[in-house]
Amino acid sequence: MKSASSLYVGRFAPSPSGPLHAGSLVAAMASYLDARAHQGQWLLRIEDIDEARTVTGAAQDIEAALHTLGMRWDGSVLVQSQRKQHYRDACDKLGSHVYACGCSRKEIADSRLGVATDGAAIYPGTCRNGLAPGKIARALRLRVPDQGREGEEIAFEDRWLGRQNQHLASEAGDFVLKRADGFWAYQLAVVVDDAEQGVTHIVRGADLLDSTARQIYLQRLLGYPMPSYLHVPLVRHTDGEKLSKQNGAQELDLTRPLDELHKAAEFLGLKTREITTATEVAAFWELATSAWQYRLEQLQTQA
Ligand code: GLU
Repeated sequence: MKSASSLYVGRFAPSPSGPLHAGSLVAAMASYLDARAHQGQWLLRIEDIDEARTVTGAAQDIEAALHTLGMRWDGSVLVQSQRKQHYRDACDKLGSHVYACGCSRKEIADSRLGVATDGAAIYPGTCRNGLAPGKIARALRLRVPDQGREGEEIAFEDRWLGRQNQHLASEAGDFVLKRADGFWAYQLAVVVDDAEQGVTHIVRGADLLDSTARQIYLQRLLGYPMPSYLHVPLVRHTDGEKLSKQNGAQELDLTRPLDELHKAAEFLGLKTREITTATEVAAFWELATSAWQYRLEQLQTQA
């Protein structure tokens, strides 16, 4: 993108567990349009930190798909699997906020504290004050403030959804920073990378809304600035389930990029009369950028 402004740095951060699909295109489009509308930079980061889920060749396929769809990123692509030292350093910096945990998934589920909003079982705190006897360290967890303590409730303004808040203790619990399989967790990696890349605006799918409070808490502990957030609605199967690479979301038809762009724009509510006249990819992006600006203004007046 030309005329990059230092005031706005956005990003698209796909996990290479499969090709770009209709749902991830919507997230990519929203973040790309928001960066264009602000004349900002748009970065691409490959989130392959969960190496067990990484599919060989998927990152290249995603890059090629973005290219075919006319989306150009700034600078070089950051690849999480090459940045483990940065995550280790950040984890060290967190000091006594981090503790080793020896509990198995089953033990945590059996405690029946319920599940966090993202479906993970809430940790009962068994190893909070040291590994229970006979246990060996499996994972590293971050201690969140106890219910009612300062910093336990995280509130933020979402540019699409409005005011959001989450109680960390009851809705998330002490969360994993380093997994039992040895991989760094998404929550830590995403916070470190967004800060080190200078990301100012995060635009992504609403499936990650529940993670935002944990990420803001980590930013505070690490002394990072807080970016602004916008979560776009999720594309769902007709049965209401989220479209994902795991449940066989249909691949995009990249022989017809303009059709795919029009479908994603329609989903985002950008289907203005002008956009329908776009018969070329470059013209589409011009018109879609204005439509995005208009859409955000509409959302603001509704709020
Ligand atoms: N890698 C995540 C995903 O593909 C996105 C992370 C983010 O945008 O914060 O769902």
